[in-house]
Amino acid sequence: MFKRILIANRGEIAVRIIRACKELGIETVAVFSTADKDAMHVKLADLKVCIGPPPAAKSYLNIESILSAAILKKCDAIHPGYGFLAENPEFEKICNQNNIKFIGPPADVISLSGNKSKAIEVMNQNKIPIIPGSNGNIKNIKDALIIAKKIGYPVILKASFGGGGKGMRICNNPKELESLYQISKSESLSSFGADHVYIEKYIIRPRHVEVQIVADNYGNIFCVGQRECSIQRRHQKLIEEAPPINVSFKTLRLIKEFAIRAAESIGYKNLGTIEFLVDKNENFYFIEINSRIQVEHPVTEITTGLDLIKFQILIAAGEKLTNLSNEIKPFGSAIEFRINAEDPDDNFKPSPGKISECIFPGGPGIRVDTHIYKDYIVPPYYDSLLAKLIIWGCSRIEAINRAKRALDEFKIEGIKTTIPFYKKLIKNQNFIQGNLHTHFIEEEFGV
Ligand code: ADP
Repeated sequence: MFKRILIANRGEIAVRIIRACKELGIETVAVFSTADKDAMHVKLADLKVCIGPPPAAKSYLNIESILSAAILKKCDAIHPGYGFLAENPEFEKICNQNNIKFIGPPADVISLSGNKSKAIEVMNQNKIPIIPGSNGNIKNIKDALIIAKKIGYPVILKASFGGGGKGMRICNNPKELESLYQISKSESLSSFGADHVYIEKYIIRPRHVEVQIVADNYGNIFCVGQRECSIQRRHQKLIEEAPPINVSFKTLRLIKEFAIRAAESIGYKNLGTIEFLVDKNENFYFIEINSRIQVEHPVTEITTGLDLIKFQILIAAGEKLTNLSNEIKPFGSAIEFRINAEDPDDNFKPSPGKISECIFPGGPGIRVDTHIYKDYIVPPYYDSLLAKLIIWGCSRIEAINRAKRALDEFKIEGIKTTIPFYKKLIKNQNFIQGNLHTHFIEEEFGV
C-alpha cells in the first residue's frame, strides 16, 4: 500500500481525496497555487507545497512543479482528481517513469478515452450502439455536408478532444453547418490544442445516463451504479441522480451490459464512466468515456455504501476485485446539486469573493462535499464549484422533500450562488415527476 500520496488538485475534490487517504492510513501532500494558500485542502493535508502562481497553467497544470513536489516529499503515488492533469496521458507516463504511481488508468486508456471520435470508432467496431455520424474526424466541409445530408439535420459538431461542453455546435441546416464548421474547429483548437471535429446526429431531448465502472489490473470489470445527469445547462451537468428514473429496467440493464463490454474492449483499468444518451423511445447510444473520478460520484457512493476514491487507490496499489457484483445492493435514491459561485439572475455569471456567512445543512440523509468556510475568499481563477449537496432518501420523493429542507438550511452569504435557482427547480412539477431531458432547464426556466 502507498505510504504518501500527493493530491494534484484543489477544491472539494482535493479535500475528498485527503479524507479517503486518512481513512486508509496514508499520508497526504497538498499542492497549491499562491491564490490557494488558505484553502481547506492545504489545511487538512499532512504536508504542503506551493507549486506556483494563480493561473492553472503555471500551477495545477505545471507537470514539472507537481512532479518535483512529489519527489521532494517522497510520495509514492499521485491522485489527480478531476480536471487539470487527470486525463493527460503524458502525466501518467512521466509519473510512472519516476516510480510514482498515477492513480487512474494507464496512458493508452486515457489517450483513447480523450480522443472521443477515435473512442466512438472503437466502440462501433465492438458493436456498442453509437449515434449515427461521421464515425471519425471530418476531413473538410464538403465531407461534413455529405454526412449531415445522409444522417439528417439537426446535427451536432463536436471537438474530438473536447470536454466541458466546449466546441459543440448544433446545426439545423447546411447553411448553419457551413458557417459553424470553422467556428467549432477554431474553438476546439484554442481550447484543446487540436482542431479535429466530428459530427453526430443531434438527438432531440435525450436523457444522459452513465455507468460507473470499477476495474482492477487483472481483468475484473464491474458496474457499481448508474446515474441520471440530464439536468444540464449549456451541456454542463448541474444536478445528478442515482438511480436513473423513468427509464425501464430492461434498458438500464442493457446499458450496463454494453458499458461493461465497452470497458472490456479497451482493457479498462481503475475507475471510469461510460456515458450514453437515451432517446424518447429508449434507444441508447454511447457518447464518451471519462477516465477519471466524476464530480457526481457521491450519488453512487451514497446509494451503495462504497467509497469510490478508496477503490481508485486500492486498485492502483494492486488490489484485486472479487465478487463485487454480489456485494453491491443499491438502496434508495440520491440527488446531487452542484452549488456554484454563480449568479442565476445574471446568466449564471461567476461570482467570486469573500464568503461572509456559511451554514451547512445537516440531519439524516445529507452529505456536503466542500472546501469552503466562513471568511474563505473564492478565487476568480478556477471553476466555480463551491460545494456538492448530496441528498439520500428511501424513495426519490423523500429525497426531493429532504432536498427542499436542506436547500433552505444551506446559507452562503457574501457571494451569489446557485442555491436560489435550485430552490425553484426542486418545486417544478416536471422535475418532481421525473420528466427529465437535457434541455429541461432551458425549456422550463428559459436560461
Ligand atoms: P463533453 O465531453 O464536452 O461533456 P459529451 O459528449 O459528454 O461532451 O456531451 C455532453 C452533453 O452534450 C450531453 O450530455 C448532451 O446533453 C449533449 N450532447 C452531446 N452529444 C449530443 C448529441 N449527439 N445529441 C444531443 N445532445 C448531445
